[in-house]
Amino acid sequence: MRLIIISGLFDTEVLVVGAGPVGLALAIDLGEKGVRCTLVERKPDPQFLPKMERCNARTMEIFRRMGIAAKVRAAGLRAEVPMDVYIILAMNRPPLLHLPYPSVAEARRQIDACTDATMPLEPYQLISQYTLEPLLKSVAEALPSVTVRYGCEFVSFSQDRDSVTTRVRCHGPVSEIKSKYLVGCDGGASAVRQQLGIALDGEGDLLRLRQGLFYCEELFDRIPIGKGPGHGRHYHVADERSTFLIMQDSTRHWTLHAVLDDDRAMAPQFEKTLGVPVKYEMLYVGEWKQNLLLADHYASGRVFLAGDAVHLVIPTGGLGMNGGVGDAVDLGWKLAATLRGWGGPKLLASYEIERRQVGARNVAASRYASLGRRKWRSLWRNLGELVAVADVEQRKSNEMIGAELGYRYVGSPVIADEPGGPEHEWLRYVPTTWPGARLPHVWLEGHAAIQDRIGQGYTLLCLGGTGEETAALEHSFKALGAPFEVLHIPDAIARDLYGFDLILLRPDLHVAWRGNRLPAAPGGLAALVTGQT
Ligand SMILES: Cc1cc2nc3c(=O)[nH]c(=O)nc-3n(C[C@H](O)[C@H](O)[C@H](O)COP(=O)(O)OP(=O)(O)OC[C@H]3O[C@@H](n4cnc5c(N)ncnc54)[C@H](O)[C@@H]3O)c2cc1C
Repeated sequence: MRLIIISGLFDTEVLVVGAGPVGLALAIDLGEKGVRCTLVERKPDPQFLPKMERCNARTMEIFRRMGIAAKVRAAGLRAEVPMDVYIILAMNRPPLLHLPYPSVAEARRQIDACTDATMPLEPYQLISQYTLEPLLKSVAEALPSVTVRYGCEFVSFSQDRDSVTTRVRCHGPVSEIKSKYLVGCDGGASAVRQQLGIALDGEGDLLRLRQGLFYCEELFDRIPIGKGPGHGRHYHVADERSTFLIMQDSTRHWTLHAVLDDDRAMAPQFEKTLGVPVKYEMLYVGEWKQNLLLADHYASGRVFLAGDAVHLVIPTGGLGMNGGVGDAVDLGWKLAATLRGWGGPKLLASYEIERRQVGARNVAASRYASLGRRKWRSLWRNLGELVAVADVEQRKSNEMIGAELGYRYVGSPVIADEPGGPEHEWLRYVPTTWPGARLPHVWLEGHAAIQDRIGQGYTLLCLGGTGEETAALEHSFKALGAPFEVLHIPDAIARDLYGFDLILLRPDLHVAWRGNRLPAAPGGLAALVTGQT
């Protein structure tokens, strides 16, 4: 066995296993914070396999904060292509139901005009996982403190009070990597989770579908329904096979999903769904399973889990990868803070408390949306009723804005909790600054986004021209070594929408505390939000 010594006692500060979108997002977040991080991935290279294709609005806000939103958009679907959803018998027949959804360009116009904080700063972006992963990989590789190693498989780990020793097989014999923390972002079958003995609970293997990836040069321009070339994103067929067709980011690639027993049935099913003769190539066929599962724990000792390793949802609602990116950014700053010495013992402990509740709510939201989809699909013999039911039920899959933006951390030891709080809604986003919530997006004077004004540490927003004395709080953060700044936002609109003069934000833009006067002993607040007490 070889020991890879990178420098000093530890080879790296954080070892991340799995370069799916979640592991890559975590590596980028850590790298941007200057944390030494090694990412190991067992695949030799990113693969051209279809999976997710929609980054939701919250993920795009996170990518904006990482400085990569523009790159993601440039690689993804063109901004003017709409995201409409159709229920059809075949593409060459009049649609049974048309649910229009805005293109990125249209959504941006709506966001630009929004003055009540009910919309995100960034619209969603359609980008296929096989496009996103190589892009994130190139971003991670460019960060000086990040090492990315493909063809490197996690084998096992052991941990003690101060370190984790991980055995990996990288193009040869097993070697060891010693790190301060290990994070398993190694997907649904996570070997890291299994070695921790953490179980997934819920409903597994609910339905098996075949998925085919098709390349078709002419389909986008020839879609016979709707107006103009390229009319939508999802085409659900009202049939007994749960068939649906999804446009991918290039508009030349399409995935077809259907309950079929045999790979060979996929090409005829694709042709039947189109109903128009086109030249195409089938690039891939595989099976995937629908699961609604949540891990009992997200961490044990110095080992953490994120993404599909701890939550598996049905893609209805698109909360899988998006939920995992949320895990990554909750964990990233807490690891960095702990490694740099200003994060107290409760900070890393809060990761499981904050993110597992979101995982549970996302599993429930996904169940709710998929039951709706199952309900209208069961009516495929009765099209009249199907359309009326689908007009209500299908929307649940496509209108999850509350689940995307409205998640709030309840009962976290590092948030100054207020008793009660608004209900969690999946289909409606009601902006709030209740502690634990994401700071709602507002435009400031000159059409500047408040999110862009906020730095990477803790920020005390002083709103509406409050004259509150902030030096004592500043001093308290400084004494802990935690990054802190005061940001004066005189705009009346932000004060009105946020409802308080003072809002303390964490590095991840979640509200840690709010009020009109600072507490008499601000040291207690600083100690609480940094996880010291
Ligand atoms: C058809 C379909 C459509 C979907 N659409 C959406 C969508 O629109 N939006 C959305 O948010 N989600 C969607 N999802 C879900 C999304 O694809 C997953 O949630 C996402 O891939 C999870 O990312 P991850 O990084 O946690 O795990 P993964 O993407 O599974 O990545 C895990 C990585 O770990 C690596 N790995 C595993 N074991 C080891 C090991 N022992 N050593 C080293 N490396 C290892 C794997 O090779 C892999 O690269 C969809 C899923 C499917 C199946």
